[in-house]
Amino acid sequence: MSSKRTHPLIDDERQKVARRYRNENLRLSIGSLIISAILLAVILLLDLSKGFVDFLSFHVSVRPLLVALYFSALYIVFSFITLPFGYVEGYLIEHKYGFSTQNRRAWFTDWLKSFLITYVIGLLVFEVIYLLIPVAPGLWWLWLSLIMVGFSVVLANIFPVVILPMFFKSSSVEDGELKEQITELGRRTGIEVKGIFSIDLSSKTTKANAAVVGLGNTKRILIGDTLLSKYEKDEVLSAVTHEMVHYREHHMWWLILWQSLITVLMFYVFFRIQPFVYGWFGFEHASEIAAFPVFAIIFAVLSYIFKPIGASLSRYYERRADRGALALTGNAEAFVRLIAKFCNEQLSIAFPNRIVEWYKYTHPSPGKRISLAERWEKP
Ligand SMILES: [Zn+2]
Repeated sequence: MSSKRTHPLIDDERQKVARRYRNENLRLSIGSLIISAILLAVILLLDLSKGFVDFLSFHVSVRPLLVALYFSALYIVFSFITLPFGYVEGYLIEHKYGFSTQNRRAWFTDWLKSFLITYVIGLLVFEVIYLLIPVAPGLWWLWLSLIMVGFSVVLANIFPVVILPMFFKSSSVEDGELKEQITELGRRTGIEVKGIFSIDLSSKTTKANAAVVGLGNTKRILIGDTLLSKYEKDEVLSAVTHEMVHYREHHMWWLILWQSLITVLMFYVFFRIQPFVYGWFGFEHASEIAAFPVFAIIFAVLSYIFKPIGASLSRYYERRADRGALALTGNAEAFVRLIAKFCNEQLSIAFPNRIVEWYKYTHPSPGKRISLAERWEKP
């Protein structure tokens, strides 16, 4: 797995720690996946799902309510079974490597919040699935994809104003010099950046980050307070400029468009293979609520198969943002320092296995980003 490639600014000792960090997290996600798979298998093999739906139907005759009760039970069971894995990954390991700044109580509060938010969103999706399949037996895959797309647009739009404030505080960037430089760059990129916010990542982690979030009227650039406090001015500016290129070129919209096409394709494949898979597990039709574990299995497998397409598209836009940032700041040296520092401090693997990078990296590896900047020439 490991590679001999290296760079003078990449700390080899930290890379060894980065591999340990990655392996511990990998073991946990594999563990969590295996436990979930076993649970689904047990539910299907012991006919627990059918039994549970029969039991519910005996007491409840309204279908949407039945759907809601079934989903709630399954969601609670899965959330609590995977909770220990989440705790080790998000709390114990993050503390062990010096990243988390949360105490146990704060971590559990966050877990509870995401548990509830995901519950509400999941329930909505679940209701839509089981209301659609019976009414549009031949075209539900198309309707479902379109509804999912609409849903993700709404979610992306409300994310910075509804969901994010539940976890972080943000405020307009006050720093005079930085703000001036950003406004000046904005003039040169031809965009008026309406919202540049500093967000208190330090309340949870020592890791630094910046991002463009929101859509339409909620679109904004977020800069982690950890980035502002620990990085040099020109490094911060490199990171912000990268985000400004995402902003200027509407990468959020492009990614949603591509993701929508992938979703339609995925649901179409789902639709074509589902009669065999459902039949194999002893179900007659996809509209059966009890057959949901089969739905979950097909969906999970297809997501793993389609993952590299989304990852490749994301890397394409990340490379564009990197090139755009270099052209705007004209400071490749600061960009290289930024990426190397990110890599050393946050334990990213600088030169990952090429297949792993292709399969799941949403950003080019730090090694590739550094070499892009070093090969970059001022126009
Ligand atoms: Zn980016």
